Amino acid sequence: MPRGLPALVALALAGCAASPSVETVPAPRTYAHGIGGATFLIGGGFEPGRSPDGNSLILYGPEGSILVDSGRHAAHLTAIEQGLSSLGFPLVAIVNTHWHLDHVSGNPALKAAHPGVKVYGTSAIDGALTGFLAKSAEFARKALADGAIPASAVPDVEGDVATIARGAELRPDMIVDESRDMAIAGRPLSLRVAHHAATERDLWIYDAAEKRAIVGDLVTLPVPFLDTACPEGWLKALDGVAASGAEQVVPGHGPIMAIADFNRWRSAFRDFIACARGAGALEGCSAGWLAAAARWIGSDTARAKAMADYYGDLVRSKALDGYCTA
Ligand SMILES: [Zn+2]
Repeated sequence: MPRGLPALVALALAGCAASPSVETVPAPRTYAHGIGGATFLIGGGFEPGRSPDGNSLILYGPEGSILVDSGRHAAHLTAIEQGLSSLGFPLVAIVNTHWHLDHVSGNPALKAAHPGVKVYGTSAIDGALTGFLAKSAEFARKALADGAIPASAVPDVEGDVATIARGAELRPDMIVDESRDMAIAGRPLSLRVAHHAATERDLWIYDAAEKRAIVGDLVTLPVPFLDTACPEGWLKALDGVAASGAEQVVPGHGPIMAIADFNRWRSAFRDFIACARGAGALEGCSAGWLAAAARWIGSDTARAKAMADYYGDLVRSKALDGYCTA
């Protein structure tokens, strides 16, 4: 895969890197699946050849419901709306863990359908809209015009270009750039901000009453999505999650993890970064990741390997180092 390919295209293409004949296990898509503590999970999908949706959650508070992340695709938005209406509390707030399009693209439609809803997130999206996302859209438009996008990925890439064109509507109403405890919809939550991690600023939630950490893309599967990451800052953020008191972790992509599994994921991630920062063959780094994360990857090994190879190269080539200082 070409180096420096913007994530939005890279993720779509990464899905195509696996042979179509390879058996893959799509991520489970359950809508509004209760996970305890007045919290419901809408699992994000990642179908072969497509771009992913992040996991979404609905949390209830005394004053209404809170949605964590709004997905990318229309089908994910429909699942969110079905979850909200079947559970019956008005949506009053959206919390975006970060600005990646698989977590914020549903914001405009949800704001239109639920007047008065307030979006909480970091201001890192502002730099992304004029930087990474603007460049991605420019690259994608050219690739579409050149016929360089595989047919299965065209709708996703076109959708992302349209979403970026409405970028201002994705921005938060309430900026949270530093960690703070607050009540949203009357529900006390601890919002934690990790700097220079998976993005310039990642917002994760510690729900102390449930001993649950909702971490967005600080944990992703089938591989760590390193497109806009500072690997060392990300590792530091994971230390913060480990120290939070959480007994359960909800990733941005992949199944809910008990804390012991989170620690296994964290140590596999640490090993992958150390390997990619080292001098040995990158193939060995991908193989190490596939072995350590086998319990989650299942039969999705061809795609996971292609993505691990791509991200290992990003780390090795120092292409990500700018994200540690920007
Ligand atoms: Zn994501």
